[in-house]
Amino acid sequence: MRFAKVWQRLLGVERTVVEQVVFDEDEGAIVASVRPRKGATRRCGICGRRCPWEDRGEGRRRWRALDLGAIPAYLEADAPRVRCAEHGVIVAQVPWARHRARHTTAFEDQCAWLAAHCSRSAVEELLRIAWRTVGAIVTRVVADAQARHDPLDGLRRIGIDEVAYKKGHRYLIVIVDHDTGRLVWAAAGRDKKTLNRFFDALGKSGCARLREVSADGANWIGDVVHSRCLNARLVMDNFHVVQWATDALDEVRREVWNQARRDLGDKVLADRLKGCRYALWKNPDRLTKRQRGRLAWVANTNARLYRAYLLKEELRLAIRMKGDEGIRLLAHWLAWASRCQIPAFVELGRKIRRHRQAIHNAMRSGSSNALIESTNTKIRVLTRVAFGFRSPEALIAMAMLAVGGCCPALPGRTTPIAFELTAT
Ligand SMILES: [Zn+2]
Repeated sequence: MRFAKVWQRLLGVERTVVEQVVFDEDEGAIVASVRPRKGATRRCGICGRRCPWEDRGEGRRRWRALDLGAIPAYLEADAPRVRCAEHGVIVAQVPWARHRARHTTAFEDQCAWLAAHCSRSAVEELLRIAWRTVGAIVTRVVADAQARHDPLDGLRRIGIDEVAYKKGHRYLIVIVDHDTGRLVWAAAGRDKKTLNRFFDALGKSGCARLREVSADGANWIGDVVHSRCLNARLVMDNFHVVQWATDALDEVRREVWNQARRDLGDKVLADRLKGCRYALWKNPDRLTKRQRGRLAWVANTNARLYRAYLLKEELRLAIRMKGDEGIRLLAHWLAWASRCQIPAFVELGRKIRRHRQAIHNAMRSGSSNALIESTNTKIRVLTRVAFGFRSPEALIAMAMLAVGGCCPALPGRTTPIAFELTAT
């Protein structure tokens, strides 16, 4: 039956008999009637165990397959039910699709690959499906990948972070493996209970294996880590510390700006200060000529704001330097901050003293700040891409796909193309 073999390959199905292929005029689609090969029949849709036949279920149904050239294609088959000892009466497994899926496995894998690599509109148009459907497909594909390989295996150094989604109203806890830069776990929530669920999933021996846990300095995270990870050092995610300094600098800039506008009524000065925002934020080596000019102007006209800028820069330098040298510079910075007479930075100095041990731990750790920050940035970008998904589950699945190493290979390619994670 060479004809059937060719169709089997074309449709990207295995352990499947292609009985007949017709062109459905009404649908404008190719429809292939199929059935599972002998050994693949009467299996539970969830566990795959051989089970007794129950009934015909809802009769024949269709699964969307990958387009054949320019024409949509469907598989059509019976969908009988079986009686599984564990899962009860359930629709039988089919070799060409995942349980409860309305699309073939090849279609779903291609959809997930595209979702990780292309824009939302490209995926929707190319595959002729709604973004909501993409969300459901991605969730199934990721669950499938995780069932085959547990991402929590062998973790030693992890990072815990909070990511806002839904325009900042809701939060995800995300856990990243610092050795691979991969996202390994995420859940909706921002509390001890949710974080404890991660350590429950990791298990006692998994928790005991952890050597280093990094976080943003939130007390509730520290408490849980101390009670669950007995062999791990708590380490600060130091890019958050640099972010605190940037926030403090912005507070000073706003103060100076408001003062210029209100007290002095000096509109020109206020406008120029407003224009300095980016020059003050950026790393000095990335400044444009124009921004360097603006910074020089701040140095000449506003000593207080310029001092705040220097405080931010020295802190950033200490953090970047790492090691003993960085720690010495940080000590110098703390002394400077305590007598600088700029409330935002005095307060920042106090905050850093509170977290000093964890910050020192990070400066002595081998973890790369750049890798941690880049994974963090990628997850934040994803939350915007996946905004159209209704559930946090779909958003999490999308993140696991793109930065969790769960992206499947394209149908017909044997080597999985892992989504490359590179520190920038
Ligand atoms: Zn079962």
